[in-house]
Order: sequence, then structure tokens, then C-alpha cells
Amino acid sequence: MAQEDVFKKLVSHCKEYGFVFPSSDIYDGLGAVYDYGQNGVELKNNIKKYWWESMVLLHENIVGIDSAIFMHPTIWKASGHVDAFNDPLIDNKDSKKRYRADVLIEDQIAKYDEKISKEVEKARKRFGEAFDEEQFVTTNARVIEHKAKRDALHERYKKAMNDNDLTELRNIIIDEGIVCPISGTKNWTDVRQFNLMFSTEMGSMSDGAMKVYLRPETAQGIFVNFLNVQKTGRMKIPFGIAQIGKAFRNEIVARQFIFRMREFEQMEMQFFVRPGEELEWFNRWKEYRLRWHKALGFGDDHYRFHDHEKLAHYANAATDIEFLMPFGFKEVEGIHSRTNFDLSQHEKFSGKNIKYFDPELNESYTPYVIETSIGVDRMFLSVMSAAYCEEKLDNGETRVVLRLPEAIAPVKVAVLPLLKKDGLPEKAQQVIDLLKFDYNCQYDEKDSIGKRYRRHDAIGTPYCVTVDHQTLQDDTVTLRHRDTMAQERVPIASLESIVADKVSIKSLLKKLV
Ligand code: ATP
Repeated sequence: MAQEDVFKKLVSHCKEYGFVFPSSDIYDGLGAVYDYGQNGVELKNNIKKYWWESMVLLHENIVGIDSAIFMHPTIWKASGHVDAFNDPLIDNKDSKKRYRADVLIEDQIAKYDEKISKEVEKARKRFGEAFDEEQFVTTNARVIEHKAKRDALHERYKKAMNDNDLTELRNIIIDEGIVCPISGTKNWTDVRQFNLMFSTEMGSMSDGAMKVYLRPETAQGIFVNFLNVQKTGRMKIPFGIAQIGKAFRNEIVARQFIFRMREFEQMEMQFFVRPGEELEWFNRWKEYRLRWHKALGFGDDHYRFHDHEKLAHYANAATDIEFLMPFGFKEVEGIHSRTNFDLSQHEKFSGKNIKYFDPELNESYTPYVIETSIGVDRMFLSVMSAAYCEEKLDNGETRVVLRLPEAIAPVKVAVLPLLKKDGLPEKAQQVIDLLKFDYNCQYDEKDSIGKRYRRHDAIGTPYCVTVDHQTLQDDTVTLRHRDTMAQERVPIASLESIVADKVSIKSLLKKLV
């Protein structure tokens, strides 16, 4: 199946099974804003729990906060967002569609990469066992030509971005012959900068309203609370502050479902370290964060690091963890060495002393910061796309199964009475009453048992428990496993211990220590 079709199916699956709905659905939606449904919210909460506990429970020197979305507007002056949180946009005059100029060029670079990969794969098939990839890519004329074009474009793009040269970005788009996917023409406007922050007014107009922003990242709420937390928590460097919360960006092009939203959620952790030690900590956090992702078990080949071409104004090192989505490798998380930029800026703009006195060194300094920043919604999308599977069964049927890691599945146990009579529903309810304090259980009595299994496969429920007449006699049930579809007869009394280990977040956290 083409990857585009897989993605379309995933989007409709998310809606059909109560994971994600377009916001304001009955009013035909609102651009790039989405709501999470009854299963989506459970999955999302489990992802957040996994992240939060991996930070705050597993690290004695990391604590959490929950800061407000509205903050003093000077914060965004100090952080550089008012002046520099821009994306370069370009319009196609024929289709009237708006694009990010940098994204158009990055897609073009990806096209050269694809051409090279195709040549390599063709050759691999042709030469079989004897294929030497290294030799092929350095000697094949077509590959050399594609690579030369790619590298030249890459260099030109990097320079234009670093110089903030909007005219050059447009020239690149023209020279590369990049066309609008809708109109198919090269009739482009100039490239302009567009600030991504939403603003609103606080206070009534008569007493002079103040322009405030909806935070475009949660990080600044951590920086401005640095002293509060450090002092009240008696924190010693190195230490971290974690936060999960909403962020807002007026994205120019909001496509690809929940990948790029205007209202989204971030999980950010700022780790404060001694100046000079930041790159060592940067590498440690890179490694730890990748381990967190891989512990979910989707396969190591789904992840890669992508170092930034253009460092943000505050960073001295930056990388992304990219995940193989149905539309290619895409950023899910950013890890940045932010120097002491933010704390120094807030010191300057607030006039307060934001230094740390290091008792071991007997000196004061502005700490350096390593940030790990991951989008909950992008993480959700990556999990859904890796888990979604259409499986051909031996009997010729196809089943859709969400192979979610058990610990984050929305429903852990479905309890199904074989029939709606003979006391089976009541017995099923007793099983739920036994398990419901620890696990999200669901009772389901409608339709044939086969249909009910399929429904739970489709939302990723790892265990289905069927209550039948034998249960009434000997207190045993049929336990069905989602991935293998294997069934076993087990006593009700042992259900808890069978399920316990696998479905708790603890099982994931244990892989991290
Ligand atoms: P991009 O280059 O895709 O716009 P970014 O580099 O601006 O992302 P960061 O500012 O580093 O993103 O934000 C950290 C994380 O927040 C990202 O890795 C992503 O998971 C998430 N994120 C950022 N913007 C959005 C958005 N518009 N919708 C959903 N998630 C987002």
C-alpha cells in the first residue's frame, strides 16, 4: 500500500475509533486544531505519564512545575520570540496557496535523496550478494550527478538561512524549478517573514489593555521560575525542571493531521548545568531520550538523529530525534544546548539577579541549559502510525490491529460475556470490579464475540477476557492475546498477576535504568 494511503487510513481510523476528531467538527472543523476522543485521551495521558515518570520519578534531581499559559509580555521580548520567532513564507499567485519557503526547499533536497536511494536499491537488486554500496555510490555517474546537485543545493540553502537572506531563498525556489503542488506553476511571490505567536488582550479596554501572547513554547515558564524552584526546592546544579503543557503557534502551513497543529502540547525539560559542561550533558540527554523512544519497541530502525543546519539564536548544539512516519523521517523531539542565553536575557530584562551560587566551586554563575522538548501530539502520531497494522489472516480475512505497547494502550482489558443472559453479564461485571482499580477495563456485550475481538484489536486492547457458562462453574475465563490471538483458559484469580507486569508504565520505566 502506498504510504499516502496508509496515512489516510490512519487518519480515518483515528476518527472512527474515538482517538482524534477535527475540532468543532459539526461546524466543519477549524484549521489545524484537533480534539482527542475517548480512546485518544487515554493514550495521550499514558504517553504523558511515561514521559513525566521517566523524568520526575527516575531522576532525583528533576522536579516538575505547571506554569501559566499567559505570561508577562516582556518575557517574549527577552526570549527573542517577538523579533525572531518567524517562518519565511511564500505564496503561489495562481493557487493562492501559502507555503513555508524553507520547507519547499527541504522537500526538494529530500527528492534528490530519494533519487539516490532508488538508484541504490535498483543496483542492489541487480547485483545481489556481490553489491558493494560504498563503491556504487562513489562511482555510478547518475548517483554522482544527483549527489553533486543535492550538496550544492544544501550548501546554498544553509547559507541563505544563516544569513536570513529571503531574496536568496526565493532565487533557490525559482532556480530549482520548484512548482506549487496545487497549480503546478512557478508563479511565486516574494518571501516574507511571518511571526508565529498568537496574541490577545488582557484587561478591559478602558483601563488600557495589555497585549499578551499565548505561549509558543512551555520552556520560558521554566526559565522564569528557575529561582523559585531552585530556592524552594534547595536544588543543586546539575538539576532539571520538567513541564507538560499547551503551546500555540500560528503555523503558516498546517497539514499532515496532528503533526503540525496551531494548538498543541509539549513535554519539556530544562536541565541546568555548570558552564563548560553543557556539551557533555547534551550528549547524555541525547542518548537517554533515544533510549526512552526505543523502549516502546517499535524497532530501532524507526529513529534517527538529525543535527540542525541552522542553530537557533540561543543554541550551541542542537539535534532532532526523527521518527519514520508514513510521510518519511520527521522531527518528534528537539534536544538543544541553549547556553545561558535565556537566563541571561531574563536577568537583563527583569533587572533581577538570576545567578546560582555553586557551593563546591565557591562562585556564582548563570547556569547553562540543556533542553529536551517533545510534542505530545507528534509522539501520539508516531505511536499510532507505528502501531497501525492491517494483517492478513489464515482464513483470508483481514484484521486491523493497533499493536500499541501494552503499557500505553487506552484500554487494558476488555471483559466480554459470551451471551447477554444466564448470569454471564453479572459475572463479567464482577471481573471488572476486581480489576478496575488498577486497569482501564471495558465491558462489551454487543455483537458476536468475533466482532467484539476485532473492535478491541482496532483500539489496541492487549487482553480480552471472555466469560462463559464454564466460568459460572469453575471461575475460569478465556484470556485472548491481541497480537498472537492465542487463547488460554485461566482462573479469574490469576488474571491480575498475568496482566499486571506488562500493562503498567513501570514495565517501560524499568528499561530505562
Ligand atoms: P518544526 O521544525 O517541525 O516546526 P520546531 O523545530 O519548531 O518544529 P520546536 O520548537 O523544537 O519545534 O518544538 C519542540 C517540539 O514540539 C517539536 O519537536 C514537536 O514535537 C513539537 N511541535 C512544535 N511545533 C508543533 C506543532 N505546530 N504541532 C505539533 N507539535 C509541534
